[in-house]
Amino acid sequence: MTYATTNPATGEVEARFDFITDTAIASALDEAHDFYERDWRERPFAERAKIISAAASIMRAESDRLAELIVREMGKLLPQAKGEVELSANILDYFAQHAADYLKPRPLPESPGATAYPLPLGVLVAVEPWNFPYYQLARVAGPQLIVGNVLIVKHASNVPQCAAAFEDVLRRAGLPAAGYRNVYATADQVGGLIDDPRVRGVTLTGSEGAGSAVASRAGHNLKKSVLELGGSDPLIVLEDAPFEPTLENVIWGRMNNTGQSCVASKRLIVVGKDRGKQFLDGVAEKMAALKAGDPMDPHTTLGPVSSESAVLGLVKQVEAAEAAGATVVTGGKRIDRPGFYMEATVVTDIEEKNPLYLQEAFGPVLSVYVVENEAEALKVANAIPFGLGGSVFTSDLERGERIARQIESGMAFVNHPTWTAPELPFGGVKNSGYGRELSQYGFGEFVNMKLVAVSPVGSPPPGVSAAG
Ligand code: NAP
Repeated sequence: MTYATTNPATGEVEARFDFITDTAIASALDEAHDFYERDWRERPFAERAKIISAAASIMRAESDRLAELIVREMGKLLPQAKGEVELSANILDYFAQHAADYLKPRPLPESPGATAYPLPLGVLVAVEPWNFPYYQLARVAGPQLIVGNVLIVKHASNVPQCAAAFEDVLRRAGLPAAGYRNVYATADQVGGLIDDPRVRGVTLTGSEGAGSAVASRAGHNLKKSVLELGGSDPLIVLEDAPFEPTLENVIWGRMNNTGQSCVASKRLIVVGKDRGKQFLDGVAEKMAALKAGDPMDPHTTLGPVSSESAVLGLVKQVEAAEAAGATVVTGGKRIDRPGFYMEATVVTDIEEKNPLYLQEAFGPVLSVYVVENEAEALKVANAIPFGLGGSVFTSDLERGERIARQIESGMAFVNHPTWTAPELPFGGVKNSGYGRELSQYGFGEFVNMKLVAVSPVGSPPPGVSAAG
């Protein structure tokens, strides 16, 4: 795939970008490694933090321009694009403000003289997806640059201008070019980087296929990897959840970012037959009422999906579900207008043998399950290969928390769809990947927690007492 801006609202290709040459990518790595060795890892923390904070300020000051680029490249609704810019700036600020604590040496009092020092690892490669073009970058760049690592970043090929804009923000914030390099690289070139001994780790957010390819290469080279992959999060509605606010949360959870979020509430699981019917009617009505239009127009409530292949794939996925016995309650078709628009879709009667039962639908498609009781809700919730997020809606917070703990996932929320904030660890289990991003937990993924143990002068070797 080439790097290009194709406006999802019109289908028009607005700009194309050449792949980086092998020579240029080799120089990028030389420079990154040299910069790490002679400068960045030794820079006082406060200087690194100042640059990251300055980048946050630039993002806020240029929010309109940065948000418009998101809209043009992947079709997000403008208010949500502005929200993403703000969230990205908040992530950068969070690490600038908190990393001093995380980076403190930690004495190990049970072994006098021993201390664990959080140190950087070196050059990291990051492979990122298009669905939140700045947020995905901020959650890697914030912590990793503050720790003292340097980054070579391969962003998705459909958001090349967002990729370049984020790099430019860091540059203007004072980060030398070698500290963070955006490369329009091929998968082969990424593989070549991972093979190089100077690269010490790789992080990827994206599909299972890409995760498996990149992590295998990293594993072959005995390198650390972090994977943030797909999900098909359950949203369980218990008997006592209030109808209206829960319904609003279901729509937000499913339709934020036109449904193209790894942690979208892709599967609504309602306990109780009557309530199931009430929710099914409620979501169908609200989904059908969403208004397709220009994502720059504040009145639009249904934006395009990211690409021609995405819209075709979603329609095909719904058709296959229907052919296997599911009922399409509303939507299911491509919208007849320029660009990549898919009707907001609700599917139900999805049996275990239906392919959709186990799949992720990465767009505006909600699967609805009506179950008898809590045990069945958990069975459906946990039946899938993914384990990213999940949520439970109930008036009984204790019960909600217990069920949230039983969802097989890296994150679970009570009375809120799965979401993200700088201070909350983000990541999954099962096929959703491993490792965490954000918070103190994400901060530690590419850190050499180095033990230095100092014994008194003249100490005897182990097993020999000082006296003897
Ligand atoms: P994708 O095809 O895997 O693309 C993600 C990134 O990986 C892109 O930069 C892509 O480059 C690159 N890539 C693909 N194959 C590669 C390979 N063999 N070697 C190196 N790089 C490779 O993902 P997508 O389908 O566009 O994105 C949606 C998926 O990402 C969904 O499953 C979604 O749930 C998941 N996701 C997960 C999270 C999370 O935090 N867990 C967040 C967002 C999205 P090209 O663009 O050049 O192909």
